[in-house]
Amino acid sequence: MISVRGLTKRFGANTVLDGIDLEIGAGERVAIIGPSGTGKSTLLRSLNFLEKPDEGQITVGDVSVDAKTATAAEQRGLRRRTSFVFQNYALFANKTARDNIAEGLITVRGWERAKAHARADEILSTIGLANRGDSYPAALSGGQQQRVGIGRAMAADAELMLIDEPTSALDPEWVDEVLQLLKRVADARQTMLIVTHEMQFARDISDRVLFMDGGRIVEQGPPEVMFSRPKDPRTAAFLRKVL
Ligand code: ADP
Ligand code: MG
Repeated sequence: MISVRGLTKRFGANTVLDGIDLEIGAGERVAIIGPSGTGKSTLLRSLNFLEKPDEGQITVGDVSVDAKTATAAEQRGLRRRTSFVFQNYALFANKTARDNIAEGLITVRGWERAKAHARADEILSTIGLANRGDSYPAALSGGQQQRVGIGRAMAADAELMLIDEPTSALDPEWVDEVLQLLKRVADARQTMLIVTHEMQFARDISDRVLFMDGGRIVEQGPPEVMFSRPKDPRTAAFLRKVL
């Protein structure tokens, strides 16, 4: 249901994504691991045109986009079928938690304000923040802000959730609550592509692990294979460092 072919992205002379091919099935949870600077964030950002890829085809559900010829309408179509959880939450500082969650429902999906707010309140309950709907991000802990960021992505009800290092900006005390919420999203079989340096978490929640290095997918497989008997020496060297 999700297919990526030959995805390539260059920044000047630097080829950051070097012809990525990837298929993700409905309900599949895919974790990406790898050293920093290898293109993990760029891959996620390119999949919904937060970053415009130079070449390649991206298909999500019934939308298929060629990077070279992508129209604005096609890019919007892709964005509507994906949601994004950012490393640094990327909440609107001047909007309450409720409005942060409701915003996309109103602007992207055209929901009426009252309906969007009702849905946002349901989500606030789900993410354990039922009493914080009127709070602005600055009044929330890092963990609570990232839970709002995840709630916003849940509200989008997207075919693919893209999640980029969701805990790496957090103080250690907030990591667990965010991982627990993401575990629930994964358990609900939300199709997801998650970049994480939490190896135990990747092992727990994913159906498949991709190891990226130098803008390519070097190796992939089920977590139990990837973490205990990786085939590629680069994967093995990386895991020796982080495990
Ligand atoms: P990762 O998420 O794996 O750490 P990134 O995708 O953030 O890696 O970055 C991959 C490479 O692309 C790095 O060399 C980084 O410096 C470069 N890069 C990322 N974004 C930009 C940008 N906007 N302009 C120029 N270079 C960039
Ligand atoms: Mg990154």
